[in-house]
Amino acid sequence: MDCLFCKIAAGEIPARMLYQDEQVVAFADINPQAPTHILVLPRKHIQSPAHLEEGDEALLGHLLSVSVAVAKKEGLVRGFRTVINSGEEGGQTVDHLHVHVLGGRPMHWPPG
Ligand code: AMP
Ligand code: ZN
Repeated sequence: MDCLFCKIAAGEIPARMLYQDEQVVAFADINPQAPTHILVLPRKHIQSPAHLEEGDEALLGHLLSVSVAVAKKEGLVRGFRTVINSGEEGGQTVDHLHVHVLGGRPMHWPPG
């Protein structure tokens, strides 16, 4: 499968890796939108939240737990934002489900 994030998770394309386990990986976003901008994703190829299947619940829970753990590890004690873009109008540009963890500056609401 020709998927950028599958290749990064497999170590075939380099990234600044911040966390890895059997199920998920976390690495620095190549085009950061905040002083800290991390992507956390499952190794399993899931296209988007709209493509989640029965049985993915535990993986999703782990994905969010790791996202929070990585935010803490990166020192985001004043807060952070987690974002999952889904589909074209949701702003998704890489079709492999991922959590953005953004921090190090105040976030605004509503998002653009
Ligand atoms: P989204 O628009 O929600 O699909 O997010 C995709 C994110 O992947 C963007 O923030 C990009 O900057 C980031 N990105 C694209 N290519 C790479 C790469 N090779 N390494 C790290 N991050 C990337
Ligand atoms: Zn993939």
